[in-house]
Amino acid sequence: MERQLFGEKIATTPAFVIDETDVRRRLQSLALLREESGCKVLYSMKALPLQSILELAIDVSDGISVSSLFEARLARECIADHGSVHLTTPGLRKDEFPELSELCSHVSFNSTSQWRAMAGLGEVFSPGLRLNPKVPFVYDQRYDPCRLHSKLGVDIDTLDSVDGIEQLEGLHFHTVFSCPDFTPMSRTVEIIRHRLLNKMRNLKWLNLGGGYLFSQIEQRGAFVELVQGLRRDYAIDVYVEPGNDVVKQAGYLVSTVVDRFDSGGKTVAILDTSVNHNPEVFEYQYQPELLRQPCGDVPVILAGSTCLAGDLFGEYGFASKPEVGDRIVFKHCGAYSLIKAHRFNGYNLPDIYNWDGKNFQRLKHYDYQDYRRQWLVDG
Ligand SMILES: *Cc1c(COP(=O)(O)O)cnc(C)c1O
Repeated sequence: MERQLFGEKIATTPAFVIDETDVRRRLQSLALLREESGCKVLYSMKALPLQSILELAIDVSDGISVSSLFEARLARECIADHGSVHLTTPGLRKDEFPELSELCSHVSFNSTSQWRAMAGLGEVFSPGLRLNPKVPFVYDQRYDPCRLHSKLGVDIDTLDSVDGIEQLEGLHFHTVFSCPDFTPMSRTVEIIRHRLLNKMRNLKWLNLGGGYLFSQIEQRGAFVELVQGLRRDYAIDVYVEPGNDVVKQAGYLVSTVVDRFDSGGKTVAILDTSVNHNPEVFEYQYQPELLRQPCGDVPVILAGSTCLAGDLFGEYGFASKPEVGDRIVFKHCGAYSLIKAHRFNGYNLPDIYNWDGKNFQRLKHYDYQDYRRQWLVDG
C-alpha cells in the first residue's frame, strides 16, 4: 500500500488515506483485550467520525462515545441500535437534552449543577458523573484535565459529600493522552475505589476513559487484573473509550510539491496541503513523520500553502531536493487531523480515500460548491 501512495492510484492531492487493514488490526487487539478482561469498549468518535470507521468499530465493540448532539446523531445514523452511545461534555444545553437523552444510553454529567438541571428531562438513560480525580499525569496544562481549576469533571474532594450520590449509576474519568502503560489507570482506580466506589450502592458502570495506546501496550496483565477486580468486587460494567489508538497510525496525508526555492540559504518546498489539514502540528509545534522518512544531509523546509508564515511542517534532511510534482506523504495522521481541518485561505479539504488491503476507494471529494455553501447567504 505504502508504495502506491506515491503513485497514480491516488489521483489527486491533497488526499487523506485511511488504511482500513490497520484499523481492523487495532480493533482486533481491543476485542482481545475485551475478551481477556471482560471490559466493554467504546470508540471515541471525535478522533475521526468517518462512517466507515464507525461501522468497523461497532462490529467489534460495545458502542460509541460522543461529545455533542451532532456526534450523537451521526453515531446513531451509522450504528442504528447496534450498541450504546455514551455522552460526556461540559457543554450540555437544556434545549438539546431531550433529543440527546433519546440518542444516548449513558450520560456522564460534567458537573453536579448540570446533573441537577437535566437529570429529570427527556428519556430514560443511565446517569453518571465525570470525576476529576486530581491525579495529574499530563505535563502540558493545556491537555491536563486534572489541572488546577479544571473545567472537566467534579472535584473528587467534593464528590463524596454530594447529596444523592447513591442515585448515580456511573462514574467516568479521562485523564491522559497517548499513554503507553496502564500505571495512571491503576493509580487512579486505587484512589477512587476506597473513597467513592464503596459508597455508591447503585453503581452499574465505571468508564476509565481513553487516552491509552491500548493496542500497543504489551503488558496487559495489570489492565486485565484491574478490570476483573472491579467487576468482581462491585458487579459493574467497566468501559474504556479509545479514539487515537484506533485510527492514528492508519491515517496518511498525501501531498505534492507545488514550488521550490531558496530562502536565506535554505531550500523551501511548498506543498499543496497545509497545517490546516493537520492542525495539531501547529498547535503542539511537532514535526510529523514522513513515509519514506528521508535521511540525507540536504536540509529542506516543508511548508504549507497558506499565507501564515508559521504554516510549516518542519525541516527534513533529504538525500536530494524534492522536485516540483514529487509526492510527500505524512504518516500517523489518522486522529484529530481531518476532524480539525478547515479551508483557511480557500484551500480545499483533502479528498478521502480508503485502502481495504487490495484497492483504494475514494470516499469523499469536496469542491467549490461545499465552500460556497458555507459562506454564501443563499448558499
Ligand atoms: C478525547 C476523549 C477520549 C479519547 O481519547 P484518545 O486520546 O483519542 O484515546 C475518551 N474520552 C474522553 C472523555 C475524551 O475527551
